[in-house]
Amino acid sequence: MSRSPIVLSVIIPVYNEVDNLDPLHQALITVLEEQNKPYEIILVDDGSTDGSREKLAQIAKSNKNFKVVNFLRNYGQTAALMAGIEKAQGEILIPMDADLQNDPKDIPRLLQKLDEGFDVVSGWRKDRQDKTITRTIPSMIANKIISKISGLVLHDYGCTLKVYRRDVIKGVRLYGEMHRFIPIYAKWQGAQVTEIPVSHNPRIHGISKYGLNRIFKVILDLIVVWFMENYFTKPIYLFGSFGLFFLLVSLLSGTLAVYLRIFHNISFISTPMPLAAVMSFMVGIVAILLGLVAEMVVRTYYESQRLNIYTVRETLNIDEPT
Ligand code: UDP
Ligand code: MG
Repeated sequence: MSRSPIVLSVIIPVYNEVDNLDPLHQALITVLEEQNKPYEIILVDDGSTDGSREKLAQIAKSNKNFKVVNFLRNYGQTAALMAGIEKAQGEILIPMDADLQNDPKDIPRLLQKLDEGFDVVSGWRKDRQDKTITRTIPSMIANKIISKISGLVLHDYGCTLKVYRRDVIKGVRLYGEMHRFIPIYAKWQGAQVTEIPVSHNPRIHGISKYGLNRIFKVILDLIVVWFMENYFTKPIYLFGSFGLFFLLVSLLSGTLAVYLRIFHNISFISTPMPLAAVMSFMVGIVAILLGLVAEMVVRTYYESQRLNIYTVRETLNIDEPT
């Protein structure tokens, strides 16, 4: 088996960043050449309409380490990162933003940290240069909640600049705004994850592509992450517990209604108990049935792709069939 000679793969989603591309390219070359390792810079143009695509083609002509994927239309930053990860050949993947808010000069420090024995080193925009009310504060709260739910404590999930050993995100599939959760996914696989502060600059060219509505997407993605973390291989446990709880509520309110009717002569229709019994019975049954459907979906997911519910780090003295 021949191994790819490329060591570092920088992956950059680009959406309408035309004025940032030349300075970005220059800054990256300066930093990467100093590393003395074969590298590639993969730019994924996410359907730009401002001439970024032409600019990328022009730079790609002058530099063969500068590789470009052009999307047909705008699919979003997560999809662009995903495409970059898929094309990347390096052992170390370095996603970052195209807008120079991340500083390529931080890459050597991130790589050094990786060499200390980590699989993922996440950037932490300690001194973040974005609007305080709409960006920095919501993101602070989000980071606290995500840390709590995922069990991986990071200050800044949203920072795109991170470095990964390729093995730990092999096969990762990203949806929605999910790219910020890659370190969590890596940790599930057993990776060692850490963070170091990185610098953050205000945007000089172009505009931010996001507004407040991203908060809702992140919250919903977080629910998915929580579900995947805890129940993805056994959804019936979640739906089933919920269903059983409501069946219990139903039983209790039904019994209470009968008890009140017999011993206190209170009519069925003068308390909400019978209604509560019927409602919670229905909710309980539906939840259990949904859980069974989810089980089938999950099994189809794993079995159609012959996926395992575990990941093996290594085996000893076992010959893998090739
Ligand atoms: N981006 C993208 N597709 C999109 C939106 C953004 O590829 O639909 C890219 C954008 O060009 C930039 C990165 O994702 O390189 C981060 O976007 P932005 O700077 O607007 O986000 P912010 O820094 O404001 O959170
Ligand atoms: Mg930005």
